[in-house]
Amino acid sequence: MSKNYYIGVDIGGTKINAGLVFGNSVQKRIKILTESHKGKQRVLKNLARAVMEVWQDNVKGIGIGCAGEIDRKAGKVITSPNFHRQFENVNIKKFLERKFKRPVSVENDANCFTLAESKLGSGRGAKYVVGLTLGTGIGSGMVFEGKIFHGQSGAAGEWGHTAIVDNGLNCSCGKTGHLETYSSGKAMIKLYKTITGEEKDTFYIEKMAIKKQKAALQVFKIMSDALAVGLANIINALNPTVIVIGGGLARVELLWQPATKKARRLTVFPDLAKTRIVRSALGDDAQIIGATLLIKK
Ligand SMILES: [Zn+2]
Repeated sequence: MSKNYYIGVDIGGTKINAGLVFGNSVQKRIKILTESHKGKQRVLKNLARAVMEVWQDNVKGIGIGCAGEIDRKAGKVITSPNFHRQFENVNIKKFLERKFKRPVSVENDANCFTLAESKLGSGRGAKYVVGLTLGTGIGSGMVFEGKIFHGQSGAAGEWGHTAIVDNGLNCSCGKTGHLETYSSGKAMIKLYKTITGEEKDTFYIEKMAIKKQKAALQVFKIMSDALAVGLANIINALNPTVIVIGGGLARVELLWQPATKKARRLTVFPDLAKTRIVRSALGDDAQIIGATLLIKK
C-alpha cells in the first residue's frame, strides 16, 4: 500500500468531487459544482479550486476521472456529451501540471470506478469485472485480469450507449434507444413526465412508486426491463465474473430486484447466469480512489 498522499478528482457534468487519498482511503473530500453551462474556463477554474481545497504540500500526484472520451496519453478530454455545454479538446493534464507542479493522469470516470471496485471493493479478487454507474447517465468500465480494457482507440465499454430499443427515445449522445435513455436518472424523470405531464425529481418518483402510484410503477417497469436487457447483454457478451453497480440508482430496490432477476433469465447458457451482480462497496469514493490508483503506477 502506498504511504504517500495523492489527490483524486471525479469531474461530472453537475459536480466535481475531489479527495485527498492516503493509502487507499479518502482523508478529506470536497464537492463543488462543475458549472459546465458557464463554459470550459469556468470548469477548469472550479477544478483547480477543488484540488486546492484538499491540497497539501506532500501530495505526490493528481488523478482525474472525467465523463466522456479521454485521450489518456495527452491527458485530454476529447468529448464529453454529459456536460451542459460541449466539453471538447480540453487538456486537463497540461492545465493542472502547470498549476500544481505534480504529475497528473486523466482517465474515464467509469473506468476509475471499475478499477477501484476491482482492486479494493466488491469486485476484489474477481478476474473479469464490469462496472456500471447508474446516475444521471450510465457510465461503465471493464477491468480484465487487473487491467482496464480500453479497446482499439480507448473508448471501450460504453454499455450505457448500447441500443436496447430500435428507433427508441433520443439519447444525450445524439443517437436513439440506448440503455441510458431508459434506465438512468435522466430517463426516470423524462419517462415520468411523458406519462404524467409533471416534471419531478427521482426521489419523488421513487416515493410515489413505493406508494404504488400507477405512473411511477410504470416508469420502474420500463427502467428495470431495459436494465435487465442491458445486464444480460453484458453477461452474454463477456461472461464476466462480477458486475459491480454503483451510482444513486443502485440502492433503489424497485429497480434492482426486478432487473437483476430478469437479467439472469435472459442469459443464453446456465453458466452465464452465475455472474454475480453486486452493489458498489466504495460508493462515492470509488471514482476518487480509482483515479489515484492510476497516478500511483
Ligand atoms: Zn447514447
